Amino acid sequence: MKRVLARAAAFDNRRPDPLVLEAWLAAIGDLDPTDALDAVVAHYGDSVEWIKPGHIRARVKRVRAERLRSADLALPPADPDARDYGPQLRKLLGEIADGRTVSRALDSAPTKGTEPPAEYIAARGPGYVRRRAALAVPCPLVGCRMGPGRPCRAPGSRRSLTAGYHPARLDAARAELDAQETPWT
Ligand SMILES: [Zn+2]
Repeated sequence: MKRVLARAAAFDNRRPDPLVLEAWLAAIGDLDPTDALDAVVAHYGDSVEWIKPGHIRARVKRVRAERLRSADLALPPADPDARDYGPQLRKLLGEIADGRTVSRALDSAPTKGTEPPAEYIAARGPGYVRRRAALAVPCPLVGCRMGPGRPCRAPGSRRSLTAGYHPARLDAARAELDAQETPWT
């Protein structure tokens, strides 16, 4: 936050004394430091207004929402049977908003002979992620109704669908996601 205040001072010649720093920490100390720093630059790039902590929070909130919208990862590669699926979901969405997911995925590219880390799979294979997510909930289709973790089948067939799930099942998974609380708002 010290750097954020110093950056603001570079634009508007304010004095970043300890009392001001304390107030800024109290108001927006919870924000990601890099996002807050970017917000100061963005603010003075298109505004003549003296920047206040509320400006920074508003910009950071917009940036996080934008990252979530542009991420092709509505759902995490969690083990569908895991009891902590909800918390894992919230954690991943928080990481996408922080802008951390892609860089973590690049850092964690798999080496030969090892299983790719979850972040890598999540960043590289949205289809895989969707399949895991759909299979986390039971299929709502009459004639299928496969339970969690079991791939969908066409009615009357013993073979699993190529995609692994009926589209309605993914909708059901998303509906469950929407019902979750969103901690970043
Ligand atoms: Zn199904």
